[in-house]
Amino acid sequence: MAKALPAIDSARCTGCGRCVASCPPHVLWLDADGPNGMGRKRSVLHDAPGCTGCAICATTCPFDVISMVEPIAR
Ligand code: SF4
Ligand code: SF4
Repeated sequence: MAKALPAIDSARCTGCGRCVASCPPHVLWLDADGPNGMGRKRSVLHDAPGCTGCAICATTCPFDVISMVEPIAR
């Protein structure tokens, strides 16, 4: 597991998708509220073990929605 993982403030995420496009291992995706990809979209980390902790997503987000946080031990 990476030393830091992205914490995405869903309420402030615009769903612009820039972080998704910027992530080298492609572990972020856009989740939609409605069926068939309809409705409001938000960025979600769907593969935490695949995240390298590079923070590119956090620096790419134009709205400062992503912060890097230490993962909670499970
Ligand atoms: S920290 Fe890096 S690897 Fe992890 S989700 Fe963000 S861009 Fe992807
Ligand atoms: S770049 Fe920021 S606002 Fe855009 S989808 Fe990612 S977290 Fe949301």
